[in-house]
Amino acid sequence: MSEAIDATQQKATVTAHQVNVSVAVQLADLVKSTLGPYGMDKEMVDGAGKVVLTNDGATIFKETKLNHPTATIITEIARTQEQNCFDGTTSCVVINGELMKEASTLTKMNVHPTRIAKGFNLANNKAQELLENIAIPTDKDILSKVAKTAMTGKSVESDDESLADICVEVANSTTLDNISIVRRPNGKISESVAIAGILVDRERVHLNMPSKVKDAKIALIDVDITLPEFAQTIQVQVTDNEAVKEFIESRKSQLQEIATQIIDSGANVVLCLRDIDRFVSEYFAKQGIYAARRVAKSDLEAVSKATGGRIVSSIDELDEADLGTSGLLEEITVGEKPIIKLTENPTSEAVSVLLRAPTQHVVDEVARAFEDALGVVSIAIEDEKVLAGGGAPYLYLSKELKEYANSVGGREQMAVVAFANALEVIPSALAENSGLDPLDTLIALRQLHTSGSVGIFGVDVEEGGGKNMVEAGVIEPMRVVSQALHSASNVSSQLLRIDNIIEMNRGPEIGEDGFDY
Ligand code: ADP
Ligand code: MG
Repeated sequence: MSEAIDATQQKATVTAHQVNVSVAVQLADLVKSTLGPYGMDKEMVDGAGKVVLTNDGATIFKETKLNHPTATIITEIARTQEQNCFDGTTSCVVINGELMKEASTLTKMNVHPTRIAKGFNLANNKAQELLENIAIPTDKDILSKVAKTAMTGKSVESDDESLADICVEVANSTTLDNISIVRRPNGKISESVAIAGILVDRERVHLNMPSKVKDAKIALIDVDITLPEFAQTIQVQVTDNEAVKEFIESRKSQLQEIATQIIDSGANVVLCLRDIDRFVSEYFAKQGIYAARRVAKSDLEAVSKATGGRIVSSIDELDEADLGTSGLLEEITVGEKPIIKLTENPTSEAVSVLLRAPTQHVVDEVARAFEDALGVVSIAIEDEKVLAGGGAPYLYLSKELKEYANSVGGREQMAVVAFANALEVIPSALAENSGLDPLDTLIALRQLHTSGSVGIFGVDVEEGGGKNMVEAGVIEPMRVVSQALHSASNVSSQLLRIDNIIEMNRGPEIGEDGFDY
């Protein structure tokens, strides 16, 4: 009896603050071991036995069952980080965990949480300013290093040189939304190429169709090219042969009418999202029309954008003005399978990257790594600012913020120092994950940061101690670090201001009683 009362009382003393610290630290611990080039993978299994192997922070949160509201708030920042920067999700959550740990120590010393939050904000603002001091301007050589750093630790390292070159080439030539990526197994990663124009991972539906069309006039159709009722399975009951023949003939002439309607628009190429009736295909082949079916929606949209064609959902309404134009459509063979290539398009920004790898599994992994690299390189181009990696910026900030703290009065000063200390978690985790002693590494790095050029010494994950990261080619966009700091400090301040977690009395789900809650 008394034990039960004790337990209840104890529970009541666990404040929202302690809960938030605990959740933030647990989440940080969940992903900390994945940080850096020697980070470990997580094997994630769901109830149905689906297995996901990853060392990507954003993926881990996406696949982990997180029921706590605080966890939801924190994973939200990981998502923002991924959306804005394509990278740095793990760092952001790890820093947040460390900030909350530091905050917990301060509250035990009776520093009020709102004071801590205020101090964290001051520190973050100062940190953003300080980052400008160590920013490195981008050039082509630097961009290639940014791409390689983004691909570190993924299974593409042996070919990172060729992929980094492609990445920089395409990121420099156009914007992200004009780049499409096609994956093809049964090849070598080094056979990956960038192609000016569009690749559509499809082939013609009939071998008698031409494999090359000059001055292509392209109809883009997102419905089945068949008779309306044929799109679904239908059952026709017939009793005599004549009736069957008549039925088939009537269908054929209706189908021919549809095909003619398309040809009459002036189209010599048909790209269809859905299926094309076999009779229609044969008719197209006879008329020398090129047609492909089951074209991915994203490909259809890319073709629409590059050729100026409009995607139509009603064949009746197809008109010459809806057709896209391309100087040359041809089928090329890649890894024993054909693929459609459209070049000499009116909008010349479209670029395709054909990624090759031995198996589907590897090509998918290559695509993930490549997409991340493409994202960070495009950010580096946009912002024109990069930083040394390997924890270098955090060590620089940590040192400078401790000095800055002297100019901050009151309890906030303690929070600024706490913020500065928390930032060392990144180089420390990088060292630990590489099998190095974190404390020895930090001591060596602090030493390097007091002398000579600051902001460029990071963790030497191979040999231990510190190393010039610019020379080592470990470079990342400034935005990745800046956003990670911003998000971590914002969310920790937000969590610190919460003094109660109250379960809301929710009504029924939307629709159950007709009200939208
Ligand atoms: P995040 O999700 O935060 O991007 P990563 O697992 O990608 O986590 O690790 C990124 C960290 O690893 C960055 O601090 C980056 O500078 C560092 N890093 C990447 N490559 C190296 C390297 N070769 N040597 C040292 N640090 C590296
Ligand atoms: Mg990363």
